[in-house]
Amino acid sequence: MSRYAYVNGRYVDHRAAQVHIEDRGYQLADGVYEVVGVRDGKLIDEAPHLDRLDRSLGELRIEWPVPRKVMGFILRELMRRNHLRDGLVYMQVTRGVSRRDHAFPTKPVKPALVLTTKATKRIEADAGAGIAVKSMPDIRWERCDIKTVALLPNVLAKQAARESGAYEAWLLDDKGCVTEGASTNAWIVTQDDELVTRQTDNGILAGITRSTLKKLCDSLQLKLVERPFTLAEAKKAKEAFITSATSFVTPVVKIDGDTVADGKVGPTAKRLREEYVRFSEAGEPVT
Ligand code: PMP
Repeated sequence: MSRYAYVNGRYVDHRAAQVHIEDRGYQLADGVYEVVGVRDGKLIDEAPHLDRLDRSLGELRIEWPVPRKVMGFILRELMRRNHLRDGLVYMQVTRGVSRRDHAFPTKPVKPALVLTTKATKRIEADAGAGIAVKSMPDIRWERCDIKTVALLPNVLAKQAARESGAYEAWLLDDKGCVTEGASTNAWIVTQDDELVTRQTDNGILAGITRSTLKKLCDSLQLKLVERPFTLAEAKKAKEAFITSATSFVTPVVKIDGDTVADGKVGPTAKRLREEYVRFSEAGEPVT
């Protein structure tokens, strides 16, 4: 089965898909992206992902490469062509192709748009055994609220985690508080049964899964506190978990080699994962 990518107006064979070497995304990481989960052929939380794309583009003063409605069409057409049932759709917008210069192009250039899909194993409602995380300093910049393709600190953190046998990195600010994961948001349930995740500001990415889970917590009458939490607090917590479009809600059972509580998946993470899976299945149908 041939797989397609969408590149600047055309659906092309994924293996032959190309962008220009002077694309500012390639040269300078001058671009933004979005990742949307797909379950049973349906996009999960399409509108908030496109809202976040709009915000990221606005912060970098990059125009939409196509109208938002057209983006919705391209998303669906690529999913249809690739027979995507469960997986992810990536959208990437860069400032476009221009003679190399750090400053923005002085002449108007058309932003470049690339979309790809990735089929993944269907995420089970069952949380499994959970994952391990490894803490390390958060060495990123002060605009982590923008979903930019400049991901080198995240890449290095994820790699260091993987080399230590952990699945995800938990990034620490200079006060010893967990900001977020390399590609996920971080949550704990404290010994006082407080469900905690860090507040959103320029220090983290406002995850769409995080935001949906907040609403699910509301409907389950689970009280959520948005505040910083330290690594020490996380290590003493009853439960810990991560959220993202890619991982849904995934329990964390080990932090830096120490088990969280008894090292088993806790009831809150288990319940929230089940609820999130249920939510994802009620998503918007592809027409
Ligand atoms: N933080 C970072 C740094 C991320 O890259 C991601 C994944 N996009 C998230 C959090 C989770 O965001 P979402 O729930 O929108 O996937």
